[in-house]
Amino acid sequence: MNLYDLTVRQAAEILRKKELTSVELTRAVLDRIEAVEDRVKAFVTVTPDLALEQARQADGRLARDDAGPLTGVPGLIKDVICTRGVRTTCSSRMLEQFMPPYDAAVVERLNAAGMVMVGKSNMDEFAMGSSTENSAFYPTRNPWDLERVPGGSSGGSAAAVTAGQCFYALGSDTGGSIRQPAGFCNVTGLKPTYGRVSRFGLVAFASSLDQIGPMTRDVADTALVLGAIAGHDPRDATSVPLPVPDYLQALRPDLKGLRLGIPREYFVEGMQAPVEEALRRAIAQLQHLGATVDWEVSLPTTPYALAVYYIIAPSEASANLARYDGVKYGYSALDAESMWEAMEQTRQHGFGPEVKRRIMLGTYALSAGYYDAYYLKAQKVRTLIKQEFDAVFQRCDALITPTSPTIPFKLGEKVSDPLQMYLSDVCTIPVNIAGLPGMSIPAGFADGLPVGMQIIGRPFAEETLLRVGYAYQQATDWHTRRPPL
Ligand code: GLN
Repeated sequence: MNLYDLTVRQAAEILRKKELTSVELTRAVLDRIEAVEDRVKAFVTVTPDLALEQARQADGRLARDDAGPLTGVPGLIKDVICTRGVRTTCSSRMLEQFMPPYDAAVVERLNAAGMVMVGKSNMDEFAMGSSTENSAFYPTRNPWDLERVPGGSSGGSAAAVTAGQCFYALGSDTGGSIRQPAGFCNVTGLKPTYGRVSRFGLVAFASSLDQIGPMTRDVADTALVLGAIAGHDPRDATSVPLPVPDYLQALRPDLKGLRLGIPREYFVEGMQAPVEEALRRAIAQLQHLGATVDWEVSLPTTPYALAVYYIIAPSEASANLARYDGVKYGYSALDAESMWEAMEQTRQHGFGPEVKRRIMLGTYALSAGYYDAYYLKAQKVRTLIKQEFDAVFQRCDALITPTSPTIPFKLGEKVSDPLQMYLSDVCTIPVNIAGLPGMSIPAGFADGLPVGMQIIGRPFAEETLLRVGYAYQQATDWHTRRPPL
């Protein structure tokens, strides 16, 4: 196996045993980036100097026996997460030159754990999209088939993890942006419960839905990275003051005593047959591992989730993105005649078409006369969706669904049809609406391309998801496959 294909735990073990230094490990990853990045385009910024400097510091800690499981292991941060002194663009012209003066809470925590950051990953502009084609710079390609999308919006993070360009990555997930690209790239990705991880320093898209989470090569690595970034932070009023469990401790190789529900509404019309077949095989495997599987679960409001999301998320986005006025942050149109003209031109040239579409949708839904009919009604349906999940979790410990109804689609296939693009998130969006934890793990291949299985749990029951995923990965080897790059 190649050095750059190891799991975080394997890499950490090599460092701990002093078989290799972090500088050597980091060089191997930087070489890999150099070798494949032309084809994959997973990065907005590669930070080799910073990475090697952090690796030298990590080697110091390792020598002093002052190292944790992430110390000296190269990771990658989605470019929507602020990194002090390292350009944070959100893949937007608006922030092309933006240098954050501070680190996001998750970056502070990873730095304290001894992170080596190899760069910032490409994404859909401001995390709006499902294919990474909305990046203002260039699309990222799926390492499993370079003509296809890696999913989005955390497409750069997912592609880099599967391509060996980092050992782990952070993504953000507002409606599926960690899980859907994880599914498309044969990666494990977890969106934590709303409030589990601090959003301080995450550039806001839809504040009531956004969460940061890990993207890794297996479930145990996800447990490890989640443990490092989770926990209360007074700077994010929605982060919850609950203790962080030892997530690695929760992992067990069987599923005895667990009740898993299969909500029938998730096997949607338009779901591709080979995706469904892969899922059914995976569910049989879970049963084989000792879980009780309930096929009678129903979540009837599921079909409304997409509509609710496309009112609430754009509404919040239209408010959050008002700050890009050419004065406070980033790009500024300088040759305007008046203040209003400057603001107009800044937003006209700084934002791409999808971001503008969301701002218009949100502004419309919030405007006087439409607020009650759209925004308020969406909030009410949101409550119903949440209550339905609560009821189902009385009888099930976790729910199993596909992550997406299709295999990764071709670049360009859906760019001119926003509705088709929005539909790729039907299975992931309800989870954000209800604030629940959800994880996607590799569950097989269809036509040679990865298929993801989603595991949904009760609020703050990340341990249950990790347990299900871990047991499945002990019995299968889909997650160990790497793309032929
Ligand atoms: N694809 C969804 C959207 O475009 C979700 C994006 C996300 O989770 N950030 O809004």
